[in-house]
Amino acid sequence: MFDKEYDVVVVGGGHAGSEAAASAANLGCSTLLITMNLQNIAQMSCNPAMGGIAKGQIVREIDALGGYSGIVSDRTAIQFKMLNKSKGPAMWSPRVQSDRMRFAEEWRLLLEQTPNLDFYQEMVNGLLIEGGKVVGVRTSLGIEVKAKTVVLTNGTFLNGLIHIGEKQFGGGRAGERAATGITEQLIDLGFDSGRMKTGTPPRVDGRSLDYSKMMEQPGDDNPEKFSYSDLSKPLTEQRSCFMTYTSPEVHDLLREGFDRSPMFNGRIKSIGPRYCPSIEDKINRFADKERHQMFIEPEGWNTVEVYVNGFSTSLPEDVQFKALRSVVGFENVKFFRPGYAIEYDYFPPTQLTHTLETKLIDGLFFAGQINGTTGYEEAASQGLMAGINAALKVKEEESFILTRSEAYIGVLIDDLITKGTEEPYRMFTSRAEYRTLLRQDNADFRLTPVAHKIGLASDDRLLRMEEKQKKSDNFVQFFKETSVTPIEANPVLKEKGSSPINQSGKMFKIFARPQINLEDMRRLEKVADYIEKNELDKEVLEQTEIQVKYSGYIEKEKNNADKLNRLENIKIPKDFDYTKLKSLSYEACEKMTRIKPATISQASRISGVSPSDISVLLVYMGR
Ligand code: FAD
Repeated sequence: MFDKEYDVVVVGGGHAGSEAAASAANLGCSTLLITMNLQNIAQMSCNPAMGGIAKGQIVREIDALGGYSGIVSDRTAIQFKMLNKSKGPAMWSPRVQSDRMRFAEEWRLLLEQTPNLDFYQEMVNGLLIEGGKVVGVRTSLGIEVKAKTVVLTNGTFLNGLIHIGEKQFGGGRAGERAATGITEQLIDLGFDSGRMKTGTPPRVDGRSLDYSKMMEQPGDDNPEKFSYSDLSKPLTEQRSCFMTYTSPEVHDLLREGFDRSPMFNGRIKSIGPRYCPSIEDKINRFADKERHQMFIEPEGWNTVEVYVNGFSTSLPEDVQFKALRSVVGFENVKFFRPGYAIEYDYFPPTQLTHTLETKLIDGLFFAGQINGTTGYEEAASQGLMAGINAALKVKEEESFILTRSEAYIGVLIDDLITKGTEEPYRMFTSRAEYRTLLRQDNADFRLTPVAHKIGLASDDRLLRMEEKQKKSDNFVQFFKETSVTPIEANPVLKEKGSSPINQSGKMFKIFARPQINLEDMRRLEKVADYIEKNELDKEVLEQTEIQVKYSGYIEKEKNNADKLNRLENIKIPKDFDYTKLKSLSYEACEKMTRIKPATISQASRISGVSPSDISVLLVYMGR
């Protein structure tokens, strides 16, 4: 049936697998996507939303690198919000509420339009390995597919076990069976594996809710979009979400089911996402809190199904139902599906290199939740990187790695492979040391040129980005070179409570003042004329404002990043024998031997490796 050898076989069509398949195929590799159910391509297992704090930056990075998640999110959004707008631009984070069914459909449409990509629906239950190298996969029907590289993106499916109250059953997601065979084989091959858990709330019938008792949460007045390309447009129409709260009565009803809760009776043993706790976990841990927020999120344009964000639970379904009926606005609620928890296998990601290839088996890559992460965006970005690197390996080209100062994706992968993770890893802005550099607004400046270099961004796309950058740089230069007189500036400054100037000075200094924004500057004739003459759009104006207002911070972070990048350039040979460095601490020697850092900089981020261990290494390397 499969007589040809594929360049890349991707196992699993979730968020990681879809991006991996798209990037490998777009780089010209013959690619096969094998997944258990082709109807559920890029299925949103939990909340119907993309982006949010730090995750929105990742979606923009994926888009700048030529991935599809941003375009799909834009085309299937029902609401857009720029979160954290009251904070500095490093914190602004785009988020959309998505149409769950349309999201999966749009992904499939885009993948079907991707050249070099074949599809097959089946469960893969084994890898073909020869001499420490992967050479293909075997399906549950016994079909063998030969491949030069394989990307595993099994998500929550490996030996997945679903819990609802005292009931347990095998499954990768509600209504879908678990995947078996792969974990066992990987353990035999010498891999370490672990168990993690996650959970999801009930879905309900929106027609049974009383929205008049809840607070409406509309989208932004001027919605933006994720993709820098012209393949999607901002929304012209949006659907609102709603907000309500739990109450002491709801908590009491939930507590009645605690003795039947798999979380509390020891049946669930693995660790779940700390920042996405179940409702029973919240009322247990924060017993003095009288209420918890709940966001009521529509599942799409054309469905009455509603997602109950904040009420994730694995309590028995009767307890879930009774408690939910006591929530304001939910008095007559009808269930579509109960909430549940799921336990699944993952592989500690310290077993991977920066390209997401496993250290043990040549040509085998892991991406997504299989690496201990949680979230669509985290998964999608790993998939993109694994797909790119699998393709580059096949083409015998240099691998593609993003540093911590280039992208959140660089931070994510470096954290995973250097530090590992004991609980589901989710991205936060606080994980990045160069937040001011890694903004959502400049992901295209940071990454489109590199995407173009490897062949994922078109000439057209690079040109658009360069044009935007040129316009913004020129506008910044205009502020640096153009003077403003007290007569022109003082009325604006006075109105904004900023001290007046008594002699002419450069506009840049005025604009950099905290009270002054672009709208104020625009009131100056020279600025208004410049904008009109050069036809500057919203994106260029926003970019310029950030470049002026944050120039000090940006410069400082760039300098720090440059310093770190110097260490990044000092490579450590793959099979370096740390035991020969007698001055290294025992812990540093053991951890570096296991993790095999690629550079001195990566070595310095391993917990247990001290600055004096780094000095020993630097001395040895002659630095
Ligand atoms: P998945 O999206 O799980 O996709 C895996 C794909 O691989 C599936 O299509 C599956 O059919 C296929 N597959 C698996 N094994 C095989 C095989 N052997 N052969 C062929 N195909 C295979 N994330 C959050 O950020 N917050 C949350 O609150 C949250 N809650 C969740 C609750 C539940 C119940 C679940 C299931 C997930 C939750 N997630 C949550 C996680 C989120 O869904 C994942 O992080 C994301 O979907 C992972 O993407 P992925 O591509 O790695 O895997």
